[in-house]
Amino acid sequence: MTLSDLSELSAQAEPEVDPGMHVELSAAQVAARRQFRDFVAQRITPFADQWDRQEQIPRDTIDALRSQGYLGALLPRDVGGGAMDAITYGLLTEELARGCSSVRSLLTVHDMAAITVARWGGPRLKAEILPALASGKTLGALAVSEPGVGSDAASVETEARFEGEEIVLNGHKKWTTFGQIADVFLVLARSQQGLGAFLVNADAPGFSRRAIQGMTGTRASMLAELELDDCRVPADHQLGRVGFGLSHVIGGTALDHGRYSVAWGSVGIAQACLDACLDHTAERQQGGKAIRDHQLVRRQLTEMITETRAARLLCYRAGHLRRKRDPGAAPETWVAKYFASRAAVRAANCAVQLHGAIGLHEGSPVGRYLRDAKVMEVIEGSSQIQQTFIPDFPLSEL
Ligand SMILES: Cc1cc2nc3c(=O)[nH]c(=O)nc-3n(C[C@H](O)[C@H](O)[C@H](O)COP(=O)(O)OP(=O)(O)OC[C@H]3O[C@@H](n4cnc5c(N)ncnc54)[C@H](O)[C@@H]3O)c2cc1C
Repeated sequence: MTLSDLSELSAQAEPEVDPGMHVELSAAQVAARRQFRDFVAQRITPFADQWDRQEQIPRDTIDALRSQGYLGALLPRDVGGGAMDAITYGLLTEELARGCSSVRSLLTVHDMAAITVARWGGPRLKAEILPALASGKTLGALAVSEPGVGSDAASVETEARFEGEEIVLNGHKKWTTFGQIADVFLVLARSQQGLGAFLVNADAPGFSRRAIQGMTGTRASMLAELELDDCRVPADHQLGRVGFGLSHVIGGTALDHGRYSVAWGSVGIAQACLDACLDHTAERQQGGKAIRDHQLVRRQLTEMITETRAARLLCYRAGHLRRKRDPGAAPETWVAKYFASRAAVRAANCAVQLHGAIGLHEGSPVGRYLRDAKVMEVIEGSSQIQQTFIPDFPLSEL
């Protein structure tokens, strides 16, 4: 019996598969991924190590992301966004991270701000700012962390005071990705009525920023610390109701999106590690043969291949639930982010090992992959925070 006879037979024997179980990209998604991949190969990958050393992304690269429609791609068409579906967005995030995790981080934070304004902003604020966020003309960022506040975001010390038609903010934000160049910031602050989320323009009175240099990972993501010193914003820059600023606005929308983006970004780093290792281990000869022909090297490649694919499948699952607006999407996203970020670290660690001394020299990108992967285990809920919460999640049956 030939192979084709066998597959014909098994097709006959196979009960009809519920289309909901298919894990397959549509033709449009495959075409979109090809376009993302070509863009990244031309405009991102060749320069990523240089940007890492220079600790910045050039303006013309950000312009290129804008003109491709990659910034604000999730926003609806009526405000100028791309109305991109969650899976296609995931593919975009993966491909960008495969080239440069710092560029991926711009997409992450910009879209965290953009979709949060779209969901929680009042009509006037939305009319004022969404078209500019959708085109990427205005760049958004997230300002939750403070010098004394990280994992426990509910303990933010930045204060918001309501004064007539204005909100007055006082506090210090830290580690704001792309804070050096962002135009608007999604700020978490406490008021007498509870935690609130506010949109602060970089040109608001009382706003100032200072660049943070010398990060270990995502070094080109242009971090900043922000000073809000009697910083005044119009009252309609409040997003959602006070008291729901963390639970619904920033936690339920911005950070949920951030986790989804970071999960896919982690897959991108893991895939980049795998690509580098498949090439290097085929070329590098030791003991009279290519190192990929040594059994222990093959074991490491197998682990990388399997874990990268498993992480991607978890991302597909989270994306599928997001497309359906299924309430199970958020917990599934936590699981995807948890696994994918750890898989990226393992893949990057393996990649450095398999490259030997070359992997420990700045001429090879695998050292950057390892530094960038480690960041993924810290941001949008560290691995330990996830380990604390995931056992209680109402995950749907698989
Ligand atoms: C590259 C980079 C970019 C960032 N960008 C942004 C940004 O754009 N906007 C923003 O607001 N913030 C940003 N951050 C900050 C990031 O959100 C925080 O680093 C993260 O929330 C963790 O907080 P922390 O670093 O203060 O660590 P801490 O909260 O001090 O945690 C330190 C360690 O203790 C563990 N830990 C803490 N609490 C618990 C617990 N309850 N149980 C078990 N273990 C615990 C953590 O897992 C971690 O290992 C960025 C950070 C980095 C590194």
